[in-house]
Amino acid sequence: MRQSKLFCKTLKEAPKEAEVISHKLLLRGDFISQLASGVYNFLPLGYRVHKKIENIIREEMNSIGGQEVFLASFQPKEIWQKTNRWDHMDPPLFKIKDRHKKEFALGSTHEEVITDLVRERVQSYKDLPIYLYQIQNKFRNEMRFTGGLLRAKEFVMKDLYSFHTDKEDLDKFFNRVLLAYDKIYKRCGLEAIRSEASGGVFTKEKTYEFQVLSDIGEDKVIYCQKCNWATNLDIAEVKPGDKCPKCKSNLIKGNSIEVGHIFKLGTKYSKAIGLCFRNKKGEKKDVIMGCYGIGLGRLMATIVEANHDKKGIIWPKSIAPFDIHLIPIFSRKKKIDKKIRKVSEKFYQTGQKEKIEILYDDREGISSGEKFVGADLIGIPMRIVISEKTLNKNSVEIKRRDQEKTKLVKIKEAGKWFTDF
Ligand SMILES: [Zn+2]
Repeated sequence: MRQSKLFCKTLKEAPKEAEVISHKLLLRGDFISQLASGVYNFLPLGYRVHKKIENIIREEMNSIGGQEVFLASFQPKEIWQKTNRWDHMDPPLFKIKDRHKKEFALGSTHEEVITDLVRERVQSYKDLPIYLYQIQNKFRNEMRFTGGLLRAKEFVMKDLYSFHTDKEDLDKFFNRVLLAYDKIYKRCGLEAIRSEASGGVFTKEKTYEFQVLSDIGEDKVIYCQKCNWATNLDIAEVKPGDKCPKCKSNLIKGNSIEVGHIFKLGTKYSKAIGLCFRNKKGEKKDVIMGCYGIGLGRLMATIVEANHDKKGIIWPKSIAPFDIHLIPIFSRKKKIDKKIRKVSEKFYQTGQKEKIEILYDDREGISSGEKFVGADLIGIPMRIVISEKTLNKNSVEIKRRDQEKTKLVKIKEAGKWFTDF
């Protein structure tokens, strides 16, 4: 991508309303723009990151047998009444009427819709288990919106639902999801700890949250630094200073951001909606369910909270908007600039061929200082500078965003370096 064509205007200062660092940096880097309180547009840079996170999640869901669906956001009132949640959701549902006065909720979750969908297709134990997931917009009518993407009215969520004949089968699958979630966070450059929590409006059973320790987090966990055992403070039967139930180290308290939540739902929704099956003996039984969520915008913001310095974002390579930021620095000497342009173009073309994603700062008349400040803010993992100085040594300058040191690489060796990258 040529930066001269990129739809992006970075800002020197963050808008006043932004409080947390991820919100500030995502606005300053023009990854997102705010349309209304808690409502955000994703711009090209931001959407590239979002898509990469989406694909990591999709791969891990497919690897445990998940099948992707895309369910409707308009959910009829009747289906919510069956589970008695039409008036009892926290936060409350967004409710709308069509021109015939038929009432709908804008989906804040999809247990009702998916349970009903599966009910129409499952008769026998032979039809189970089923694992369905989607990556789709959710709408949450929260009391307040702070923290940018950490708490939004409209956001993309991955929600997986599993359907089983018995509790043992659910337990087995639940453990596979735990491992898949560990992989997702790791691949996104995050250290998330599993924390026991309460199920809120979803279930009375104990659930697991995935928490990333962070001073700005709204959740509180008591955890063990040694073995990562953790529990949400709300349900904790231990207190800071107590011994870890697993390894006997001292427990400590910390703020954290919840980046995922998984539930064993049991038969709560299948009973309410009438989702049952016939077992081997021909007896009618309720289907046992689990559900597993990750909010993508919040995950993206948490990654920024965990990966930045005072100059800007430091994206992990796996989800960076581009792999390399290629920056020619022009000298205003005609002959030299012609060469700088030629070498830069060659790099850009080679990268394209090698399927390396390059943001090529081909903008002219912009100072090196301004280009570097912008590059640090946007946070692409690798920077390549081509200037009069580097060309005098037949070289280009390479710098990783997460390191201070630069190194010169000979142009003729850069091809190999490219392939290795
Ligand atoms: Zn421990």
